Amino acid sequence: MEITILGSGSAIMREKRRSASHLVKTNSGKSLLLDAGSGVPVNILKTGQDVQKLDHILITHAHGDHLGNLIPLMQSMLVDGYDVSGEGWQERRRTKPLYLHGYKGFTDHYEALRKIMFPERAEPYEIKIAEYQDNERTFDDVVIKGTEVTHVPQYWSASAFRVEADGKSIVYTGDCGYDERFVKLARNADVGLFEMSVPVWMYKAGPRPNHLSAFECGLVAAKSGVKKLVLVHMFDNDSEEAITEAVRQNFKGELIISEDLQRIEV
Ligand SMILES: [Zn+2]
Ligand SMILES: [Zn+2]
Repeated sequence: MEITILGSGSAIMREKRRSASHLVKTNSGKSLLLDAGSGVPVNILKTGQDVQKLDHILITHAHGDHLGNLIPLMQSMLVDGYDVSGEGWQERRRTKPLYLHGYKGFTDHYEALRKIMFPERAEPYEIKIAEYQDNERTFDDVVIKGTEVTHVPQYWSASAFRVEADGKSIVYTGDCGYDERFVKLARNADVGLFEMSVPVWMYKAGPRPNHLSAFECGLVAAKSGVKKLVLVHMFDNDSEEAITEAVRQNFKGELIISEDLQRIEV
C-alpha cells in the first residue's frame, strides 16, 4: 500500500496544511480516502487520483475538518457523469458502488447533510453505508476494521480505523484522546497515522481527554507495536525538536512529521 497525506493540518486554515484527509492505494489498485477535510479538493487531484474511481471513504467523526468535504466530493462524482460536464462525460460516469464507512450515527448525519447540501438522489451507482464501533468488513482483498474512540462524546460518537491489504496494515486515529480501544486496534500495525494536537507545553499540565499529545502518540505507538509513526493533524505549535523529543521518550521506530502531499510507503 501507499499513503498520500492530502491534509496534514487541523481545523485551523493554514496555507501549507489542509485539514484531515489521506489517500490510501493498495497494490491491486483499490483506493480509500481516510476522512474528507479540506485536503480533498485540489490535493487529491494533485496525486493523479481520479475521484470517480474512489472505492471507499472512511469518516472518523463529524467535525468539519474531517467530514466537511464529503458531500461536495459526492456531488462532484455525480455531476461529472452528466452531459454538461464536458467531453468524455460518458467515460467519467461512475457505475461501481461507493462504500461509505463511518462512526456510530454516521448514517443519520449523512442523510441530514444530503437533505440540505445535495438533495438530488440521481446517482446511477449504489451507495453502501456502514457504521463501526467494534467490527470489521472485508471487501475482496481489503479489510476495514473500526472501533469507537473518545473524542467529544457529549456531541456524537467517533471511530478510529484500521485498513489491511497487501499483507500490511494502517491505523488512523481521526481525533481522539488516549484510549485503550485504539491501542488494541493499532496492535502491530505497519503504519500509524496519529493525530498530534496537544502541544508539548500543554501536555505538561496533564493529558487532554479529546486529543493526543506527541508524548501520547509515542506511548500508544510503543504499546501497540506500531512500526512507522506518522504524525498528522498538525497545529504547528511546537518545534520539530520538541515533538521528536516527546515521541522518543517511548517510541523508537521510524517517525515522520507529515506534510501535505507527502507519500508514505507501507
Ligand atoms: Zn480534527
Ligand atoms: Zn475532531
